[in-house]
Amino acid sequence: MDFAPSPRATDLVERVRAFTETEIDPVEEAYHRDLAALRADGDPWQPLPVIGELRARARARGLWNLFLPAGHEGPYAERFGTLGGAGLSNTDYAPVAELTGRSHLAPAVFNCDAPDTGNMEVLLRYGSEQQKEQWLEPLLDARIRSAFCMTEPGVASSDATNMELRAEVVGEEVVVNGRKWWATGIGHPDCEMLIVMGLTDPGADRHHRHTMVIVPRSAPGVRVERQLDTMGFQDEPGGHGEVTFTDVRVPLANVIAGPGRAFEIAQGRLGPGRVHHCMRLIGLAERALELACQRGLSRTAFGKPIANLGGNRERIADARIAIDSTRLLVLNAAWKLDQGGPGNALSEVSQIKVAVPNMAQQVIDFAIQLHGGAGMSNDFPLAGAWTSARALRLADGPDEVHRGVVARLELMKHGARR
Ligand SMILES: Cc1cc2nc3c(=O)[nH]c(=O)nc-3n(C[C@H](O)[C@H](O)[C@H](O)COP(=O)(O)OP(=O)(O)OC[C@H]3O[C@@H](n4cnc5c(N)ncnc54)[C@H](O)[C@@H]3O)c2cc1C
Repeated sequence: MDFAPSPRATDLVERVRAFTETEIDPVEEAYHRDLAALRADGDPWQPLPVIGELRARARARGLWNLFLPAGHEGPYAERFGTLGGAGLSNTDYAPVAELTGRSHLAPAVFNCDAPDTGNMEVLLRYGSEQQKEQWLEPLLDARIRSAFCMTEPGVASSDATNMELRAEVVGEEVVVNGRKWWATGIGHPDCEMLIVMGLTDPGADRHHRHTMVIVPRSAPGVRVERQLDTMGFQDEPGGHGEVTFTDVRVPLANVIAGPGRAFEIAQGRLGPGRVHHCMRLIGLAERALELACQRGLSRTAFGKPIANLGGNRERIADARIAIDSTRLLVLNAAWKLDQGGPGNALSEVSQIKVAVPNMAQQVIDFAIQLHGGAGMSNDFPLAGAWTSARALRLADGPDEVHRGVVARLELMKHGARR
């Protein structure tokens, strides 16, 4: 096992670090202040111009689409120039993603944000040439954004075979009817493309009933009913929408990879996407620990710096141990993905999907506690960070489902059947 970043990745990490420190960190506080002002009086669903300005500068420095996996940079570098990313392995991308995870703005600034990255990977891996041209290229170019519509309010969606929204093939069209929710990013004014999972053939076996189909956000019959709160946060300008589809008709050519292949695509999509979430959460936990240490040394209670009171030093040590051990777990999963693709890292990806959000939630919780009342307010990024970590114990599959995968694979080593 070799987790050492390549010289190319080392260089990129330094460039991403320099960009984040000099361009993003100085404007982040003002960004949140301006957004809060728009919430009080204005339209927070219109992205603030600073994001576009930062994106242009990041792109000019080649810090763009770095999430794109190795192997795709060739044809895309030729076809789209710098849109092709840097061709990093998962192991090499880990420290880059960790850095972007420290900041609420950085993933979008580098065009490495969910759900666009997962959707772009679906198009890269499974999309037709026409789909790549029509949707992938503008996503790589950040001219549009996208959403992924799988979860439904009416059924337990941690079981992907439960989905009831219909995606019926009628002649040369697909007719979509049903309701989805938690469609992250659908509120963004640039969101033009939805990947929707729907039931096509109820008679087929459970893993071949569903289809992934591309639905333009502007198609007649698509309606965003509301934006959901995530513990009080609306995550503007992308949000998480509940959306209905009423007799939405799209050409058969919008089906990704072929009818009945949605389950397979969902598994493929969520593999690297889950790893990227975990890499970013390591960065978020690092930031929380830094803030805790700074606060703990700069405030005094009962005659001592807060860091020296009670069990706080031990908690700081435990946080460091937890972050470093889960980082190694993430690197191990990334390395296994690099060696043999998602099929080679089923247990490892599920392991980190449980371990990292739980670790981040605990470390951030400790940082909130050490900040006292301030930690609960939006004067510090901790309340938002805690909510993100908590949400990731559900999004991309709840903890229990991933524990189930790890246990199943473990038991199969000892003769248990699937
Ligand atoms: C912030 C956020 C963003 C999201 N973004 C998206 C998105 O962009 N697109 C999208 O399609 N979805 C998205 N989701 C939805 C998310 O993926 C689902 O909430 C998740 O998959 C669980 O589905 P469910 O809510 O229907 O829970 P259910 O399936 O109803 O499960 C409820 C609970 O049952 C328990 N449970 C389920 N299965 C098992 C099991 N095998 N063993 C033991 N217990 C079990 C777990 O405790 C689980 O939390 C997002 C969610 C959040 C919170």
